[in-house]
Amino acid sequence: MAVAPSKPTRGPIGRERLRSLYVEPERTDLELDWGAVEFHDVFKIYEAGEARTVALRGLDLRIERRELVAVIGPSGSGKSTFLALAAALDTPSAGEVRCLGHSLAALDDLELASYRAREVALVFQADNLWPALSAHENVATALRLAGISEPGRRASEALAAFGLAAREHLRPGALSGGEQQRVAIAAAAARRVPLVLADELTGELDQGNERIVLRALGELRESYGATVVLVTHSEQVAATADRVIQLRDGKVTA
Ligand code: ADP
Repeated sequence: MAVAPSKPTRGPIGRERLRSLYVEPERTDLELDWGAVEFHDVFKIYEAGEARTVALRGLDLRIERRELVAVIGPSGSGKSTFLALAAALDTPSAGEVRCLGHSLAALDDLELASYRAREVALVFQADNLWPALSAHENVATALRLAGISEPGRRASEALAAFGLAAREHLRPGALSGGEQQRVAIAAAAARRVPLVLADELTGELDQGNERIVLRALGELRESYGATVVLVTHSEQVAATADRVIQLRDGKVTA
């Protein structure tokens, strides 16, 4: 009996076929050379009614991958604005912000959400954690939100790596300020984010806790390969970084 030629079936695609479909994205020499954080002639102007504040006025800087950089400057020099733009929480009035190979202005809403969830962690002095959850639940929840598998196991491992195994069942209210910051740092480590932005982390810690938190940030770079940007008022803290970038009036000082 003659068999009618069958239509091509839509079975599973073999690995070879997938490989042949894959096209290496074309990258220009410029893209290959992108740093972790680049600001190109960035302006940020806040307007409220008649009042205009120029927070960044032509900020130019470049931070390399795996660098641990301190950003210092007097109050009002634009440090927090710089962090908010690098974390894609706000947009510049002019100029270009590039992070981890993305020109942030070119990303659509979905890509921006993915950048915030998977690639960057912003760690503050306080209020990093959900107060009703234990340290372990805090880290595991952050992992779950980022779509990372085995959140419970990974949360325990990360907390242990930052010396918090015995404290993981406690809620933030029962932890010291330094311990709370280490939980937030452990969450960044467990999420494997390549860029960690820390805002005045050590500002209210005693020297012992300051040292422990700085060591934890160093660990993020050494063991997890993260780029760490640390905004600080303290020249002592800045001295522990690879490099110091000084801001004044929304620009890098010479
Ligand atoms: P720093 O972190 O170095 O203290 P900021 O980036 O917070 O500096 O602020 C830079 C300037 O921008 C300051 O003059 C500040 O008052 C102003 N500024 C910051 N955020 C806002 C905002 N949301 N609305 C209006 N002005 C702001």
